[in-house]
Parts: sequence; C-alpha cells; structure tokens
Amino acid sequence: MLNTFSFAFLAALLLMCALRLWLAQRQISHVIAHRGRVPAGFADRIELDAHQKAADYTVARTRFDTVGLAVEVAVLLAFTFGGGLQTLHEFWSGRLDGLTYGVALIFSVALVSAVVDLPLALYRQFVIEANFDFNRMTLKIFISDLLKQAALGIVIGTPVLLAVLWLMDRMGDLWWLHVWLFWCAFNLLLLFIYPTWIAPLFNKFVPLDDAQLKMRVEALLVRCGFTSSGLFVMDGSRRSRHGNAYFTGFGKTKRIVFFDTLLSRLRPVEVEAVLAHELGHFKHRHVLKRIGMLFAMSLGFLALLGQLIDAEWFFNGLGVAAGNTVLGLLLFFLVGPVFTFLLTPLLSLLSRRDEFQADRYAAAHASAGDLVSALVKLYEDNAATLTPDPLHSLFYDSHPPAALRIAHLQSA
Ligand SMILES: [Zn+2]
Repeated sequence: MLNTFSFAFLAALLLMCALRLWLAQRQISHVIAHRGRVPAGFADRIELDAHQKAADYTVARTRFDTVGLAVEVAVLLAFTFGGGLQTLHEFWSGRLDGLTYGVALIFSVALVSAVVDLPLALYRQFVIEANFDFNRMTLKIFISDLLKQAALGIVIGTPVLLAVLWLMDRMGDLWWLHVWLFWCAFNLLLLFIYPTWIAPLFNKFVPLDDAQLKMRVEALLVRCGFTSSGLFVMDGSRRSRHGNAYFTGFGKTKRIVFFDTLLSRLRPVEVEAVLAHELGHFKHRHVLKRIGMLFAMSLGFLALLGQLIDAEWFFNGLGVAAGNTVLGLLLFFLVGPVFTFLLTPLLSLLSRRDEFQADRYAAAHASAGDLVSALVKLYEDNAATLTPDPLHSLFYDSHPPAALRIAHLQSA
C-alpha cells in the first residue's frame, strides 16, 4: 500500500529524528565541555557546584529526551504502517456508528498514547527530577493529577469532539471553516475559565499577604497603568522546587500568580523586576499576538485537512485502507507534527524576540540590575545550563541564553 506520500512522510520522519539526535548530541558535548568552569560573567555569582549540577541535569534530561523520541517514533509507526489505526477502526466500526464511533476511536488512540507515555512521565518525575532534588511530588499527588486530567479530558473533550465531528459531517465542503470558528471560540472560552475553574483543581491559590511586597507590586502596577483582579500565591512547592511567575486571564479576570517557590527565594525588588518583565509581555501584547498566530496557523492546517480528507492517497499512504473524517482527523494530528517540526526554530526565534522586548520593558519600569540578580538565582535554582550549545539554543530555546540575555539587560 506504500505510495509516494508514504516515502515523503518517512523522509520527513527520518529528517526530524536525525535533526533531534544531532542537536541533542551537540548539546550534551557542549555542556560537558564547559562543565569544569563557571563561565566568566557568572564566576562571582554562581558556585562551581551549582554550575556542575546544572550541567549534569541538562545532560540527564537531554539523554532522556532521546528515549522519548524513540518511543514517539515507535508509537507513530505502530499507528500508521503497523496497522494500529486500521485495527482500532475495524474494532469500533463493527460495534458503533456515527458520532459515537468517532468519539470511541479518538479516545482509544488518546488512551493508548497516554498509557505508553506513563512510564516515561514516572521516570522523569521520580528518577530524574528526584535525583536532582527537584521533585516534591508524592506518588499519591501524581496519580490524583492523572485522574483529574483524565476526568477533565473526558468532561471537556467529549462535547468538543462531538461538536467537531458533527460540523465535519454536516457542513459540506466548508466544514473546516466552521470547525475553525468553533475551535477559536472554544479556546477563548478556555482562556477565560482556566484561571478560575481549572487551575484551582490542581493547586491552591491564596491572595498575596506579604504587606511590603504587595505595596511594591501595587506601585509597579500603577506605574505601568495595569489593573488586575488580584495577586495570588500558588503552592508550586507541592510538586516541584522549580520557581516561576505568570499571568493568566484576560480583561477583568486577569490574575497575577507567583509560585511560592519564587517568593521564598527572591528579594522583593527582584520579584518586582520579574513581574515587570511579565507586564512587558502584556503591554507588548505578546499573548494576544501568540493567540492570533496560533489561530491563523490552525486555519491553514484545517484548510489543508479539508483538502486531504477526500484524498485516497493520504489514507493509503499512511497504512489505512479506506478513509473517513475521523480517521482523517486522527492521521492529520498524528503525522502533522513530523512536518511542522521544521517550524520550531522560527517559533523559538519569535519567542526570544518577545523575551528581549519584555526585558527592555522591565529595565525601563523596574531595575535591570534586580532582574539580572533574579535571573541568576532562577537559573541556579532551576539548574538551567549557562552554557547551552549555540545551535541547539537557536533551534529550541524560547528564552535567550543566559549570558546574552544578561548582557542585553546590563546595556539597557
Ligand atoms: Zn518572558
């Protein structure tokens, strides 16, 4: 059943694997080569111990990612050329029809992927993260997270799938435009309900009560002309020692969230500088631009799927005997990332550009020096390497490498 498209897909898959392995190998060699000495700009701020921990952590994670790649490729090949999707289709089409067939087939594929991914997730959390003393999660929290995610997936996923499959069947040749509109509306709704309805299922959020810090933060918000519906502290330490600060919501539901792990490590002036950086993302509309870009991309992908869904060669070339809309949707989302992988460096580049812009905003509205010292602490606490391979970083990193980012801030 192999056709020209099969070979195009296999070639893209091979290219993706080769690139990922090559970049991983470069990253590992580069980090190991620079393990012996703290880079010049950080020598007085970071101990050799911490630098070496970051190197070992980076190497361990990069090595493990290559295991993840092997599993990912095996699953993909099993579903397509291995006949996995064809078998599941035959199983369900003999028992169910219409929308229920579609939902059952999609959930079975999701279930198989989740089961295969489970040992990897366990290893990542309870071996790698634990070895570097980052893991704070118990097996009990891990399992309860998993069950909650599954329940949410079913409660939210079922109606969404039913709606999408219904639109695909009923809306004629322009179904993809209807699905796109529905998809955008659903995502916007999710953005509104996430902070108030979904996030609290996984973490506790309490109002920030440190009076001194609150005063600083509120003064910063006034200075930047920003209103939010509250400052919250999240119990990130329940799961991990990694620290962060972020923003969620839109309009009146905008919330600022600090991880407790971040507050326990940074001085108030540093927290202020980190928040100013986040405000920079908001003021430059980075989140809105990102959402606009994702919507535009999904319109393109859906229009493409609109063409593929009637093309026999698309199904046959990927190991499925006869196509239908559900199989088309599944194949598209299984195989798509292999082709879109090549967009990674472009998306990373755009993201790094936003980070520089947010840093400049922080330097203008808070203190660049405080942001530098906060960043150094965060790099140290997260064991993020200060010496990434330049090509690996160019390809993947959503944030500029530490040395470059700090150099920019110091010249701001
Ligand atoms: Zn940022």
